[in-house]
Amino acid sequence: MNTADPAPRPSPDGLAAPSLRSPLPPGSLMLGVLGGGQLGRMFVHAAQRHGYRVAVLEPDAASPAGAAADLHLDAPYTDPAALAQLRTICAAVTTEFENVPAATLSALADSLPVSPPPAAVQVCQHRALEKRCFLQAGVPCAPHALVESAADTTAPAALALLPGILKTSRLGYDGKGQAPVERAEDLPAAWSALGSVPCVLEQRLPLRHEISVIVARGHDGQVVHLPVQQNLHRGGILAVTQVPAPGIAESTAAQAVALATRLAGALGYVGVLCVEFFVLADGSLVANEMAPRPHNSGHYSLDACDVSQFDLQLRTLAALPLVRPRLHSAAVMLNLLGDLWFAVGPQPRPPDWAGLLALPGVHLHLYGKAEARRGRKMGHVTVTAADPAAARATALQVAALLGLPAF
Ligand code: ADP
Ligand code: MG
Repeated sequence: MNTADPAPRPSPDGLAAPSLRSPLPPGSLMLGVLGGGQLGRMFVHAAQRHGYRVAVLEPDAASPAGAAADLHLDAPYTDPAALAQLRTICAAVTTEFENVPAATLSALADSLPVSPPPAAVQVCQHRALEKRCFLQAGVPCAPHALVESAADTTAPAALALLPGILKTSRLGYDGKGQAPVERAEDLPAAWSALGSVPCVLEQRLPLRHEISVIVARGHDGQVVHLPVQQNLHRGGILAVTQVPAPGIAESTAAQAVALATRLAGALGYVGVLCVEFFVLADGSLVANEMAPRPHNSGHYSLDACDVSQFDLQLRTLAALPLVRPRLHSAAVMLNLLGDLWFAVGPQPRPPDWAGLLALPGVHLHLYGKAEARRGRKMGHVTVTAADPAAARATALQVAALLGLPAF
């Protein structure tokens, strides 16, 4: 297990001084994951490949990560007995889901190494805190106003932002918990349609591109990053990720990495952090949101990099050395939503996987979800190739076979 920490030393970025931790060597140790989704499943695979065993805490009997884990604790995230068991059997705990109650993470962090740090997860759980963190770290974000009361829906500071997008401060994902607001008179109704919960109103920005960058920060403050990925969303859900990012100047990509690194330092972060950016017409970057975990836009790293985002999560959790991942293939990732199961009628039928797998460089990932539903992430396909043009050409063939739009 973990031995006593040596004295803290300043981190290279000078923004936080995390303490050093002894590595948890690959082998038979048990690691814990809070959350049972596909991100947890892919972490389980990475950890098991290194010889660790993994326990997953997830209150769903048939979850993607629970099915892959060595041990599935089928209990709520706040269940005292389950948390006591994690404390007893695990050498360290991570999360795949940012909405795990902060109290759960803090309770575990009292007696175990937990990464990411609970305080950083709390910031990522709340859009207003997240935006404050961006600004404090000197990272530009969209002009915004808090809308937390009926009075706020008529406040001049909010109305001056329109047209905009109203987003619930908590629990939004895949475009859920959002409403476009065109005119001042629409704001009160939009706020009540979102349940009159605390919200953030953002100015709608003219996006030229969307990109994201994944950094991993170790206990000693060392940061490595994946190459910047370019993302296309459809209906608020990630649809396509391309790496290398076809529309992005090298200097823009470098700036995104620098800003994400600065955020990780400002948060005293340990773990994998994904920061989504908007690229505006003049090439400037605006931070959209961040995720304190691996991210859908980083799935290509499983097949196109020599170290994946889940390997990085493992290495930061277990205090193992961080090396910068190398992109060995150009990659295009297409998300497989449950809609694809309904292409030929009301009864769900899986797409023709054999047809896809007949194409070169196609890597199919299915998350083991029993029930296909529209908008539900069932899996993804990554196409790898020697160069971006070849990856794109095959990915367009995959899209055509699946009945997905070209990109
Ligand atoms: P989610 O948590 O659902 O991913 P996001 O805040 O990332 O929510 O918004 C989803 C998508 O909506 C973004 O990827 C982008 O395409 C669009 N979007 C969000 N905010 C803005 C904005 N301020 N201006 C323009 N487009 C936006
Ligand atoms: Mg997003």
